[in-house]
Amino acid sequence: MIQNTRIQNLNDHERRADGAYVLYWMQESQRARGNAALEMAIRGANKYGLPVVVCFGLMDGYPEANERHYAFMLDGLADCAAEFQARGIAFVLRRGMPGDVALELSHKAAAVICDRSYIPAQREWRTALAEAATCPVVQVETEVVVPVDVASDKSEYAARTIRPRIHRVWDEYLVPLDETEPEMPADGLPLESDFDLSDPAALLSTLDLDRSVKPVKRFRGGRVAALEMLNRFVDDVLDGYAKGRNEPSSAQTSFLSPYLHFGHISPVEMALAARDSGIGATEDRGSFIEELVVRRELAMNYANFAIGFETYDALPDWARKTLSEHAGDEREYVYDRAALEACGTHDAHWNDAMREMVHTGFMHNYMRMYWAKKILEWSATPEDAFNTTLALNNKYFLDGRDPNSYANVAWCFGLHDRAWTERQVFGKIRYMNANGLNRKFDMEAYTAFVDSVVKAEQA
Ligand SMILES: Cc1cc2nc3c(=O)[nH]c(=O)nc-3n(C[C@H](O)[C@H](O)[C@H](O)COP(=O)(O)OP(=O)(O)OC[C@H]3O[C@@H](n4cnc5c(N)ncnc54)[C@H](O)[C@@H]3O)c2cc1C
Repeated sequence: MIQNTRIQNLNDHERRADGAYVLYWMQESQRARGNAALEMAIRGANKYGLPVVVCFGLMDGYPEANERHYAFMLDGLADCAAEFQARGIAFVLRRGMPGDVALELSHKAAAVICDRSYIPAQREWRTALAEAATCPVVQVETEVVVPVDVASDKSEYAARTIRPRIHRVWDEYLVPLDETEPEMPADGLPLESDFDLSDPAALLSTLDLDRSVKPVKRFRGGRVAALEMLNRFVDDVLDGYAKGRNEPSSAQTSFLSPYLHFGHISPVEMALAARDSGIGATEDRGSFIEELVVRRELAMNYANFAIGFETYDALPDWARKTLSEHAGDEREYVYDRAALEACGTHDAHWNDAMREMVHTGFMHNYMRMYWAKKILEWSATPEDAFNTTLALNNKYFLDGRDPNSYANVAWCFGLHDRAWTERQVFGKIRYMNANGLNRKFDMEAYTAFVDSVVKAEQA
């Protein structure tokens, strides 16, 4: 079922009577299954006896994206291409601005379906397409469990304020997507692609992009890998997740955030797989769904409603006030961005976390908190710290450049949190220190874990 609240008409046009196909402009949800926007396109096409075409605009030099991100994404597009072909759907991959590629193909479409993003630039692309197209443009929200406007109509204060709103309605949305097969194959359509996805690595080498950050071996992109990871998680890791998820050296989390970021997997199918598995205690399943639905969708709420959500100025007033009152405090250590990127601080735990990030594109959640808090402690000003943290986050993490990136970096600077005991540099912002890590976790095991994953990258 596709709930009506996931669907939004972006313009008022009538269906083009002589349209040759229904077009799905794929952007946020880069998958050929578990995708409500694609499903809507298939149902529309079957109703009107038309084939389905999916398009993707591949841009050189996408803002903040580098070779690491592109490699992961192309693996996912290759999986899409194979699955679309098996389902009789045409997949058109062209070089260019995504909205321009979609507009060009819309001229022969009966209707266009698109997915939804919460990042302003991407929202503008969809609005621009809806204004320029001469057929209906319909947006289907398929990257969240509870549609963001159903969950709330404003920027929420904290997890505790959005949680009851999500819990009140989530049963309605935590249901499997019934999938329909296209009835009219798209084989005969005269539509050319600019790229061949049979060899994603070769395709990668032809693009004009930032090559300063290399692809990783630790994570292969795409839906096939995502489903393997989900199965591993549910079968082997979910039991004990509530307690184990915080231990930095354990692999007791799903590692699915990069796949969520690129839309290779749907949060609904992840939540259902955990909820219905019967594996682990109730608190294990509940804890996973809390992170995946409540915490993740709080980030979507922030990106959607907070003005300037990617900037320091969007932090709560109390947080900016206390940080500014302590901006002149003496810092025991100050590191610039180059020193941080060289993993060369006096703090071995921080250096380990940074090595995990730089070399493998990932970092454990608890270490991400510690990592960002220390950048605040060691930067000349809180604004510098915020900007550096966000830039590094988006440069190295495969799951960077996501609503979760902005909300979580901001959390380390007081967003969605409360005031704590006042101290130097941090003011009333929550503080973390190495003693806490040493007391709670096996940090030697974390060093050994990072050594092993970095060595595997360099092999
Ligand atoms: C400073 C900082 C920066 C972060 N940057 C990012 C980022 O760029 N991209 C990103 O996706 N996440 C980010 N996070 C959130 C979190 O660390 C990751 O989502 C999580 O570590 C991903 O690992 P996993 O998929 O194994 O998580 P699991 O424990 O398996 O959780 C399942 C899913 O729930 C969501 N989730 C888990 N923890 C959180 C959380 N604290 N807040 C919101 N959603 C959560 C993620 O989508 C995750 O994939 C950041 C956290 C901090 C403190």
